[in-house]
Amino acid sequence: MEINKENLLYQKLKTNFGYNSFRAQQEEIIEHILKGKDTVVLMPTGGGKSICFQLPSLMLDGLTLVISPLIALMKDQVQSLNGNGIPAAFLNSSQTAESVHQIKGQLERGEIKLLYVSPEKIFSQNFLSYLALLKIKLIAIDEAHCVSSWGHHFRPEYQRLNILKKHFPATTMVALTATADKAVRSDIGELLGMKAPKTFLSSFDRPNLSLAVLPGQKKWEQIIRIVHKYDKKSGIIYCSSRKATETLSAKLKAKGVKAACYHAGMMTKLKDKAQDAFIQGEIDVICATVAFGMGIDKPDIRYVIHHNMPGNLESYYQEIGRAGRDGLASETILFYSYRDVQTHLGFASEIKNKEYRKIKIAKLMRMRDFAEAQICRRKILLSYFSETLEEDCGNCDVCRNPPKFTDGTIHAQMALSAIARTNEQVGMSILVDILKGFNTSGVREKGYQQIKTFGAGKGTTTLAWQLYLQQLLQLGAMELDYKDSYNLKLNDFSRKILSGTANVKLVPYDIIKERQEEQKKAAKKIVQEPQENNPSLYEHLRLLRKEIADKIGKPAFVVFGNASLMDMSSKAPETIEQFLDVNGVGKHKAKKYGSAFLNAIKEFKNQ
Ligand code: ADP
Ligand code: ZN
Repeated sequence: MEINKENLLYQKLKTNFGYNSFRAQQEEIIEHILKGKDTVVLMPTGGGKSICFQLPSLMLDGLTLVISPLIALMKDQVQSLNGNGIPAAFLNSSQTAESVHQIKGQLERGEIKLLYVSPEKIFSQNFLSYLALLKIKLIAIDEAHCVSSWGHHFRPEYQRLNILKKHFPATTMVALTATADKAVRSDIGELLGMKAPKTFLSSFDRPNLSLAVLPGQKKWEQIIRIVHKYDKKSGIIYCSSRKATETLSAKLKAKGVKAACYHAGMMTKLKDKAQDAFIQGEIDVICATVAFGMGIDKPDIRYVIHHNMPGNLESYYQEIGRAGRDGLASETILFYSYRDVQTHLGFASEIKNKEYRKIKIAKLMRMRDFAEAQICRRKILLSYFSETLEEDCGNCDVCRNPPKFTDGTIHAQMALSAIARTNEQVGMSILVDILKGFNTSGVREKGYQQIKTFGAGKGTTTLAWQLYLQQLLQLGAMELDYKDSYNLKLNDFSRKILSGTANVKLVPYDIIKERQEEQKKAAKKIVQEPQENNPSLYEHLRLLRKEIADKIGKPAFVVFGNASLMDMSSKAPETIEQFLDVNGVGKHKAKKYGSAFLNAIKEFKNQ
C-alpha cells in the first residue's frame, strides 16, 4: 500500500518508524486504541505488536506507560525507539539513583513519550502515587499472558496489575501477547479489570519458518551439521539444563564456531555480554536455557534448535518464533525422545497444587502429540491456537516426506510378548536389551536372559527398536505406567495384537532413516538469504552499519535492520528522497545516516 498523504497515521508510521505500510491488523488496532477503548492484541512473535502502542503514544498528549517483564526487553525497545529519535526511557532495579533522578526530571517536564517499567516497579514504594502526578494517557501491558494462571509463564505480580485500572480508571489500556491459548485469552481482559475490551486476533501462522522434529539420537552430529550449514549466520540452541548450554557451547567453540552460552545462573554481566555479542553478530550461535530470548528483537536469526522438547506448545511456539522475524526463510528443529516427556512428568509430579499440576500434564501431552505426529505439524500447531489450516503446509518434515506405513505386527508381537514374560516389570531400555539379546546387568539382575523372547529381535537394530517402541506407545499398543517406575504395561489392544486379532502399522525404520539422510543432503546445500538482491552492495552496507554501530556503541539493528539493508541494496538510492523510500528509513534516521549510506552506495557504484 502506498502512503496516503492525507492519512496522519501513515505519515507517523513513515516519519517515525520508516515503514511504508501497516501489517495485518496494526492500523485497526491503533485506531481502536486512539478512540480510547481498551484493547487486547494477540499477535505472533515478530508480528509487530510494539508499533500498536508506540505509534499511538506519539499521537497522544501525555505519557504512555509500558509494563514489560524483562530488563533486556525494555533496554532493546528503548534503544530502538531512541534510535528513531523517539524519547523513551525505562525505570527498573538495574539503574543508579542518579539516572533515575534524571529520568524523573524528564518525566516531570513531559519530555518522555514512553516509559517502560517492570511489574515489580509498579508495586514498589510510592511508585503508584508518583505515577499519578504524571499525565498518563495510555497503559500498555506487554507479554500479557503472564497474568493468567493458565499461561505457561504465570507471574503472580502480573495478576496484581488490576490495581492499575483502579488507580487510573479513565486511562486506556492495551494488553499484548504472542502466546495465548483459548483459556488464557478469555482471562486477560478480565484479570486486568479492562472495560469491555475488544480482542484483535492475528493469524499465528509463520509460513517462513520450516518445522521439523528429529529423533533425539546422535544430536551432536546433527547439530554441528546445521551450524555449519548456516555458517556465519545466527542461531539459537535451546537446552534443558544450564550444564548442557555450557557443554554444547564449549564443543562448538572447539570446532571453531563462534558460540556462547546463556543461562539464569550466570552473572548478569556475563549474560549481558553474551546477549549483546549475539545481537551485534559477534557470536553466531547461542546455547541457552529458556531464560534467553524473551523480547529479543534480532530479526535475522536463521534457525532455532531445541536440544530437548519444551514442556508445552506455547513455549515451543514462542521459542521457535524468535527465528526469521525479518520474514526470510528460517529453520526450526526439535530433537525429541521419550525421555524428555518423562523428565517433564517428573517436574510436574512435584507441583503441589493439584489443578495446576493437571494443567501442566495436559499441556505436556499436547506437546508430545505434536512431536510424535505423522500429520502436517503446522496443522497441529495452528489448531492449538484455534486456527485451521485447510491444506498441508508443505514446509514441515511430515509434509516434505509423508510417511509410508508397513505392517509392524510381528515386531509388536515380539515386544509385547517380552513385556508379558517379564510380568510387565521393564521399561523401554531393558526391553530393548531383552529383544536384542544383550546380557546387561539390568537383564541379569532379574534373570531375563532365561526368557523365551531373549534375543528374538536380534535382526533389528537398537535404534530401530527404540523408534518402533515409541510408535507402539503413540498408537496405544502398550502403555507407560508413570506410577510404577515408567514400566511398560499391556492393555486390551496389546492382547488383541498378541492373539493375532489386531494388526499394527508402523513407519519402517529405513523410511525414518531415509528421512534423516535427506535432511543431511538438504543440509549440504548452501543456503542463501533470499531477496538479497545485490549481495555485494549488501555486504558493503553491512560493514558501514557495523562501523556506525560500533562508533555509537549500539547494536547494529538500532542503526538499520537486515530487511532495511536488503531493501536499500536493491533500491540503491542516489538521493535523500529515494533514501527515504527505503523500508525502515524514517526522517530521523535519514537525517542521521543518510549521507553516510548514500556516499557508500555512490562509492560502490563507481568502483
Ligand atoms: P513483536 O513484539 O510482535 O514480536 P515487534 O513489534 O518487535 O514484534 O516487530 C517485529 C519486527 O517487525 C521488528 O523488527 C519491527 O521493526 C518490524 N515491523 C513491525 N511493524 C512493521 C511494519 N508495519 N512494516 C515493516 N516492519 C515492521
Ligand atoms: Zn506441514
